[in-house]
Amino acid sequence: MALRMSSLFLRTLRENPADAEVPSHQLLVRAGYIRRVSPGIYTWLPMGLRVLRNVEKIVRDEMDAIGAQELLFPALLPKAPYEASGRWEEYGDNIFRLKDRKDDDYLLGPTHEEMFTLAVKDLFSSYKDLPLAIYQIQTKYRDEARPRAGVLRGREFVMKDSYSFDIDEAGLDKSYQLHRDAYIRIFDRLGFHYVIVQAMAGAMGGSKSEEFLATAENGEDTYVHCPHCGYAANVEAVRVPVPEAVPFEGTPGAHAESTPDTPTIETLVAHLNEHFPRSDGREWVAADTLKNVLVTLVHPDGTREPLAIGIPGDREIDEKRLGAQVEPASVEPFEEKDFAANPTLVKGYIGPNVLGSEGTSGIRYLLDPRVVDGTRWVTGANWEGQHFIDLVKGRDFEADGVIEAADVRVGDACPSCGHALESARGIEMGHIFQLGTKYAEALDLKVLDQNGKLQTVIMGSYGVGVSRAVAAVVEGNHDDLGIVWPRELSPVDVHLVATGKDVTRDPEVFETGEQLTRELEAAGLSVLYDDRQKVSPGVKFKDSELIGVPTIVVVGKSLENGVIEIKDRRSGERREVAVGDAVAEIV
Ligand code: ATP
Ligand code: MG
Ligand code: MG
Ligand code: MG
Repeated sequence: MALRMSSLFLRTLRENPADAEVPSHQLLVRAGYIRRVSPGIYTWLPMGLRVLRNVEKIVRDEMDAIGAQELLFPALLPKAPYEASGRWEEYGDNIFRLKDRKDDDYLLGPTHEEMFTLAVKDLFSSYKDLPLAIYQIQTKYRDEARPRAGVLRGREFVMKDSYSFDIDEAGLDKSYQLHRDAYIRIFDRLGFHYVIVQAMAGAMGGSKSEEFLATAENGEDTYVHCPHCGYAANVEAVRVPVPEAVPFEGTPGAHAESTPDTPTIETLVAHLNEHFPRSDGREWVAADTLKNVLVTLVHPDGTREPLAIGIPGDREIDEKRLGAQVEPASVEPFEEKDFAANPTLVKGYIGPNVLGSEGTSGIRYLLDPRVVDGTRWVTGANWEGQHFIDLVKGRDFEADGVIEAADVRVGDACPSCGHALESARGIEMGHIFQLGTKYAEALDLKVLDQNGKLQTVIMGSYGVGVSRAVAAVVEGNHDDLGIVWPRELSPVDVHLVATGKDVTRDPEVFETGEQLTRELEAAGLSVLYDDRQKVSPGVKFKDSELIGVPTIVVVGKSLENGVIEIKDRRSGERREVAVGDAVAEIV
């Protein structure tokens, strides 16, 4: 059934919504695809839902094609599995938590490694059951610190997540490669310009991880790439939230009121470079935002180690920065420590490879991001408890804090060919990851091998941002007039515009419009028919350009000469064709 503008649940807007800064957000709202409910939470209107379903279809096609099987987990999940994996703690403020009437803890799933692992444990028991790839297209929840740009970074969003299960590393390599190839087909079909970058280069115990970034100037990810050989790697410009409110337990003597002489972030960086040179010989640098602060640890024996101080939920990110693994089981929330007795402690976590067991005496400098009176502060103290540095947001730095400590940096020599690396930005659209045995171990997923011995299953996880893709496609496919959908994503195949005044004044125009609509549908095309009466041609044209269907057909004045107009939304090219030839020309 054709969609009719006269009755479609859609209202276009001439003005950009006040809260929308990036083009995709502005256009998706203006063209009637999405409506905001709350920050990072959006309603999909009929036209938007059609696009979302089209993205899902492409993803589903390609997952099915590699033999992955679709299932669906709930979004409302019990705490236990996430506690077993350590992520109930690690996620910190980043997940939505709730309680049932019995006061039991639940969460809204941010990603489902635990649930998939348990499901396989539940049903499978032998190596003969493997390999297995299962996936879902499902709504995820993350209490993002900065929901942004409409559905680009939502707090509720749709993700395709799949997981592979293999008996050995060779199997994992194969599963990973299958997914990688499927992702290339998915992103090609979605109409992206994208790069595949190494993620977390060198960290996470050598496990392999790659991201698919849609190239976009206002993307949140910064990556380096080699124009010579195509090598590309994410430089971890991940924005880590400084917690909105961290009650400061007090580090005696550590905090002093800031003064006009208080050092700036540049001072801090200079200080780190002078007194705490990085072990890898690179310099500390200040990124455009300040988030976690990295310092170098000096152990009692004089050895130095880079250290990130962060909130528990950021552990994974800091692991990347440290270039070392922090054992989840050993992560200790600092809240449990006695601050008064240990002036060197701050809120956060620390892993054994950083500090050794319980010891804290080696910490020389500590930094603690926190909020006082609505202002974000980053405070450091040295171990004698003297004031080190106080930074005030808005005065000393603009945003929330990072010192970038990437494995690869702009200007470095390309690891493959030696040419200088250049910098660019992108939007993370997909992420593939060789998990290894992390979750299988935490949740005890083992199967019997050929010799009847229990083996821990080896896993991979693979995500695509389905709802994010809708916005990212618009980022890469729009002009001054509106959206320009790639054909496979367009909510309909043809936007047919009848420019007559009303049925009594221009009966032929509307009759021809109806007839063409029927014929196009009979030929297998979906149609949005602008059958509105007493709406000016100008308004109809503007709407058609804003909405962005790739083929626009205009039935109007030229009908007197027996012709209609076919317009290509992307190129703007128009041609007149005889009414009788129209359908054949369009199909
Ligand atoms: P980001 O770095 O953008 O926060 P992520 O690394 O946290 O993403 P993953 O856990 O790798 O995300 O999830 C897989 C995919 O889900 C991402 O590649 C991205 O496309 C999508 N995604 C993640 N967070 C969001 C979000 N808040 N809104 C929309 N899509 C998201
Ligand atoms: Mg994230
Ligand atoms: Mg990411
Ligand atoms: Mg990711």
